[in-house]
Amino acid sequence: MKCPDLLSRQVDFLGVGVNDVNTSQLLECVLSFASGNQQRKIMYVNADCMVIAQRNEAYREVLNSADLVYPDGAGVVIGAKILGLKIAGRSTAADFMPEFCSHFASRGLRVFFLGAREGVASRAATKLMAKYPDLKIVGTQHGYFPRHDTWDIISKVNESQADILLVGFGAPYQELWIDRYCNHLGPKVIWGVGGLFDFLSGRTPRGPRLLLDHGLEWLCRLVAEPRRLWRRYLVGNVIFMAMVIRQRIRQSGW
Ligand code: UDP
Repeated sequence: MKCPDLLSRQVDFLGVGVNDVNTSQLLECVLSFASGNQQRKIMYVNADCMVIAQRNEAYREVLNSADLVYPDGAGVVIGAKILGLKIAGRSTAADFMPEFCSHFASRGLRVFFLGAREGVASRAATKLMAKYPDLKIVGTQHGYFPRHDTWDIISKVNESQADILLVGFGAPYQELWIDRYCNHLGPKVIWGVGGLFDFLSGRTPRGPRLLLDHGLEWLCRLVAEPRRLWRRYLVGNVIFMAMVIRQRIRQSGW
């Protein structure tokens, strides 16, 4: 199926439009966006994003204004199933991005990495370019710059003539940032990627494959960074499931 048809397959998940795309369909759309003549925004949602979107209207609106929103997180897939919504499955950037980069390399697409702690995006870039020598990562920039440097960073991105800008500031900051500055940014594709650079650089371990494949990535992340993430996962996952169950009860007309 071609990209425009894929984009029309969207479900309303607790007020957020989520596209029913699997990982290869996501790739099809990214490549189609990168060769188009219009700027496109790609975003993802996981359980934490859905909880934030319920109380942060600006973030919800930005998600709904994106060209493509894909499910990244087992919670969203389980929640969709409970609500009878059709979502193919999750696509996790840390899994698919190396392969996507091989397609970017073969098409000569230029990529810019923006986000994460100092040195992390550049380490991720070095690792990927070692794997795919034809890959053009035309710039990297950490995500802890002072606000008054924003315009210099936008110039740096535009001067690199990147086709695809990956923004990894975490949700909802990256989505709000993309929405605010996209009109000043040159890349065709602007894509929020969360903690991707931490994983690609090896800074944050992913956890055993068995757990990742069985919807327990959140547990691995919690073990890796308990102080930062306990509230997000232990409280957030419960709130998310409560939201889904409440919606399910409403649907059944009780
Ligand atoms: N980050 C950043 N600038 C900031 C705050 C966060 O670049 O001002 C980075 C942080 O270093 C990490 C990413 O944003 O690489 C957030 O990762 P997280 O796993 O929380 O993202 P998620 O995908 O879960 O939203």
